[in-house]
Amino acid sequence: MQTYLVGGAVRDRLLGYPIYDRDWVVVGASAEEMIDRGYKPVGADFPVFIHPDSGEEYALARTERKTGHGYGGFVYYASPDVTLEQDLLRRDLTINAMAEAPDGSLTDPYGGQQDLQKRILRHVSPAFAEDPLRVLRVARFAARYAALGFRVADETLALMRKLSTAGELSYLSAERVWQEFERALGEPSPGVFIDVLQRCGALEILFSEFAALQRNPAWPALATGLAELPKTQERFAVLTCAALLIENIAADDIRPRIEALCLRLKAPRSYRDQALLVSSQQAGMLQLPQADGEARLAVANGLDLLRRPERMPSLARCFDNLAAWLNVDGPPALERLQALHRALTETTPAQLMQQGFKGKALGDELKRRQQAACARLTF
Ligand code: ATP
Repeated sequence: MQTYLVGGAVRDRLLGYPIYDRDWVVVGASAEEMIDRGYKPVGADFPVFIHPDSGEEYALARTERKTGHGYGGFVYYASPDVTLEQDLLRRDLTINAMAEAPDGSLTDPYGGQQDLQKRILRHVSPAFAEDPLRVLRVARFAARYAALGFRVADETLALMRKLSTAGELSYLSAERVWQEFERALGEPSPGVFIDVLQRCGALEILFSEFAALQRNPAWPALATGLAELPKTQERFAVLTCAALLIENIAADDIRPRIEALCLRLKAPRSYRDQALLVSSQQAGMLQLPQADGEARLAVANGLDLLRRPERMPSLARCFDNLAAWLNVDGPPALERLQALHRALTETTPAQLMQQGFKGKALGDELKRRQQAACARLTF
């Protein structure tokens, strides 16, 4: 039996990128032989094994045949007579369809090295159009490598468009779409993910909430700004807020819109919460200098600053990012949030109790003093 390093590890080594994950393909072996050698079987649909020492994945070389819709609609054929070239043929992109032997020699039957040099994301075979997940994968790889000059080949984009128009994207589960979206948001050029989906007609189908934003002349500036945010959660919050701003969504509609979006996308609660906080308080943050004590206190309470002060730096990054996009000057949002937080903590309930306040009167007095402290702030 022969083992080869395949897929992303070969691609990223040739690009000089760090390698996190190593996948191996095994040619000329049966499942029984693998088990005899101590590998642990894990694959449900096709034979994949975990190496007893390294814990890395070893898959038997296989071919696949389309039997149904979606990325799960395949039957696989794995046997010792499946060749390396046959296994590489079922892969999505030429740059992902190379294999490296233990002696370092490369098997590259579909021109992966050439496409790496030409900076092209190109499908391996027409069978690309059998799996809608590949639309998202290609857009994600484009978002990862855009800064290196990579672009999607026209003929690959045409197949992606075919998958979109054929309705195949609807067979992707929300979980799978979210998984790819979240990974794409973390890539160096997340805006490129949205752009590629737009160009192949998938944006309107999978993320229609961002379609108007992507068409807006202000989109390229937002896409550039997004890449500067360190956390995917922040990128999601800014993207969502900007989409609502472009559509002039009324303040009362912000919460239901975001809740519906996050429910549909199956976004984790932390993503939803940050998008809600940023979108509902963004206007208030910009208006702080002109606002009275009551409005300032409403922003501080809306952001739950008293109970969750640790969120201030991340929220501030989102507000600064949006303010830069909207061309609004002002001091860093973190300074404003910290000033609000100080204003809220100037008076404590314990102090008021000592002064004889209790029950509702205590609550009212606390609020009155917090408002007054907020009103005294100069931004
Ligand atoms: P990443 O760096 O994002 O992990 P990767 O290329 O290693 O990229 P994996 O999802 O780990 O991505 O997949 C490993 C390899 O399996 C890919 O390089 C590709 O050859 C193949 N592959 C994975 N998913 C698909 C798919 N849906 N269609 C075709 N080939 C795929």
